Amino acid sequence: MTQVTGLLDGKVAVISGAASPRGIGLATARLFAEHGARVAILDLDGAAAVQAAASIGPGHIGVACNVADRDACQKAAEAVVAALGKVDVLINNAGITQPVKTLEIDPASWDRILDVNLRGVLYLSQALIPYMKQQGAGSIACMSSVSAQRGGGILGGPHYSAAKAGVLGLAKAMAREFGPDNIRVNCVTPGLIQTDITTGKLSDQQKAEIAGGVPLNRLGEAREIAGAYLFLASELSSYITGAVIDVNGGMLIHG
Ligand code: NAD
Repeated sequence: MTQVTGLLDGKVAVISGAASPRGIGLATARLFAEHGARVAILDLDGAAAVQAAASIGPGHIGVACNVADRDACQKAAEAVVAALGKVDVLINNAGITQPVKTLEIDPASWDRILDVNLRGVLYLSQALIPYMKQQGAGSIACMSSVSAQRGGGILGGPHYSAAKAGVLGLAKAMAREFGPDNIRVNCVTPGLIQTDITTGKLSDQQKAEIAGGVPLNRLGEAREIAGAYLFLASELSSYITGAVIDVNGGMLIHG
């Protein structure tokens, strides 16, 4: 098979929530770097972000950023542009979950889950879109979840479903607003992917049972979400905006 390379040659990509060693964000950063991008990894812990950036090769940077903090997003955006000169791609990937039922959701948990998963997408997009507008081009991909589409994935509570469904609405509205600026905005909706977000929360037997309900008969790998992000970040998807790409092994197949 012909190896496809260089899909992001010359591009600068910002990826939030990408310091976690087995996470979707770092797998995406690695794949983007393999395709020629210079990557800025944003995560809560600055030292971990710097270390993650070093682990994917030279020329990448790590920046501390809590996506739920508007000033932090602004400062991170300035730091990225100061170091890498521009921003072509934003992957709004950072997220957290909590496995509780509706009647157990307290106000602080609602705020925490909505703040990181939904408010964070708004704040980081607000910080970076002006640079994309200035250069007349950009691609933004946002992390939603099958949980948004089917009213619950496996681990996330109803507040997580609500936040991830909010991401779909926010991304579609931004796609409409910024289409004329040649900025595309899309979402990915993964099924169950094996990362630290699920570590220790599911037994091998539970995983096998879940896999049994997935047409491809297995859970997903972080790199398989990275592939969808790569497609959305690259020119391969130049006429796609406001779209939602399912990466769920067939766990949810639409009618
Ligand atoms: P992960 O826990 O490995 O990665 C999440 C990352 O986000 C971590 O590096 C964490 O430090 C970072 N983060 C958390 N709060 C942050 C904040 N306020 N600001 C900046 N960074 C923050 O888990 P993952 O599975 O790789 O999750 C990545 C994204 O994928 C999340 O949005 C998650 O909701 C989504 N998702 C995951 C699955 C799955 O099955 N793993 C399925 C659907 C969607």
